[in-house]
Amino acid sequence: MSLLVIGSIALDTLETPFGKVEYAVGGSGTFISTSASYFYDDIKLIGIVGTDFPNEELEFLKSRNIDISGVLKHPEKKTFHWHGKYNYDLNTRDSIVTELNAFEDFNPEIPASFRDSPYICLGNVDPEIQLKVINQLTNPKIIMMDTMNFWIEMKKNKLFETMKHVNIISINDSEARELTGEYNLVSAAKRMKELGPEIIVIKKGEHGALLFNGNNVFAAPALPLENVFDPTGAGDSFAGGFMGWIAGTDDTSLDNLKLAMIYGSAIASISVEKFSLEGLRELSNSSIEERLNSFKNLTQFDFPVNGKSNN
Ligand code: AMP
Repeated sequence: MSLLVIGSIALDTLETPFGKVEYAVGGSGTFISTSASYFYDDIKLIGIVGTDFPNEELEFLKSRNIDISGVLKHPEKKTFHWHGKYNYDLNTRDSIVTELNAFEDFNPEIPASFRDSPYICLGNVDPEIQLKVINQLTNPKIIMMDTMNFWIEMKKNKLFETMKHVNIISINDSEARELTGEYNLVSAAKRMKELGPEIIVIKKGEHGALLFNGNNVFAAPALPLENVFDPTGAGDSFAGGFMGWIAGTDDTSLDNLKLAMIYGSAIASISVEKFSLEGLRELSNSSIEERLNSFKNLTQFDFPVNGKSNN
């Protein structure tokens, strides 16, 4: 019951109001597979790195039990490089540089033994690549996709084509607005459903995330954190936690989707406390459980009985 992850593997330059790192490991595939590895142990990653990608970072992914036999190494080109700069509120950012490099030649052939994976997480990559991957699958049960403003602006029609074939889209609020032309997020979710996916997840940064499924809406909060250093990868970590939980439980009931929202939010909240992938390097089960409890306490309340509080 593998979870197949496709995504960028990057070297990122990141600027936040708290500092700058250069050529730190990142990418949607890296964040998704690493965060999913805390919830599920049969993860296969498809991606491409360039000549400059540090070997020890591939070893790190292996140490998380992630099968990287589908990660290609470009013989000449450098690794995909993204330079992002966050504004003071950390909810908005500018892409200063996007150098596709090795990624430009990425044309994934899914290994035969990976094709029957039931759970698929299509991280933020060129929608044409997402579609090519979908076309090679033999037994998909749940396909989730993510995307980003870059692809909405460059390849909107291809993105619409890909959306027809997925069950879940995970997207942030500004991207949902850009994709649909709807300012209101409920209207944007409705419009996205018409385009294909039956489940819509809209991430709202420090304001949590919304799940739309049928006529149901579920809101996951974001934990008010004192130390947020770098939001890079928060959306991907969310997607990894979400799909890792779904794959591990093999259950897409509404109640379990709600839990997936909380698991995704919990791991994303841990990821943003350090720069790049650092927050996800070595997490103990107890630190994840502690975070889950914080989420529970944040929103748990009882209605009063006979006008009096239960406590
Ligand atoms: P997130 O903060 O979850 O949206 O993901 C940030 C990650 O996306 C970074 O580590 C970047 O390397 C990666 N990224 C940025 N731009 C792109 C792009 N156009 N295609 C694929 N991955 C990208």
